[in-house]
Amino acid sequence: MGLRHPNPKLAKIHRSYSVEEIARVFKVHKNTVRNWFEQGMEPIDGQRPAVVRGHEIRRFLDERRARAKRPSGAGRIYCLPCRAPKVPAGNMAECLAAGDTTATLQGICPDCNRMIYRKVNPQKLSAVCGDLDVTVTQARPRIEETTKPNVKCDSTGDGHP
Ligand SMILES: [Zn+2]
Repeated sequence: MGLRHPNPKLAKIHRSYSVEEIARVFKVHKNTVRNWFEQGMEPIDGQRPAVVRGHEIRRFLDERRARAKRPSGAGRIYCLPCRAPKVPAGNMAECLAAGDTTATLQGICPDCNRMIYRKVNPQKLSAVCGDLDVTVTQARPRIEETTKPNVKCDSTGDGHP
């Protein structure tokens, strides 16, 4: 998948790290470290600039690695412009249910910031979503009849404008 998975054990549990230090220890760009915050790595409360406990870095990287290993693309939505399955920004997605058997999972591509869509079966939502934070929105039938929702639900998966 081309994702890099830094070794969590490079972080010493009882140390705290600034963004610069994390970037140096894991040999990643500072922007990558900032992405980690967006993906759920928690800095120590009230510290500016941000400081992260080694323990938290390990937890975050371990979880991230486990997620990447998950088969069948759970928690990922394919981004057409990027030509790759992506974990939506913030690990968040919205599920627009259009009936008992059809729903559209939508999120934002973390790399190109476009909306990305995946057609899902609501019954299998938990398997498809992995550990994404999913907000389920029930589409109201009346609205659906009059105006097409601005997401395409065709089976080609072509959800991009
Ligand atoms: Zn993209």
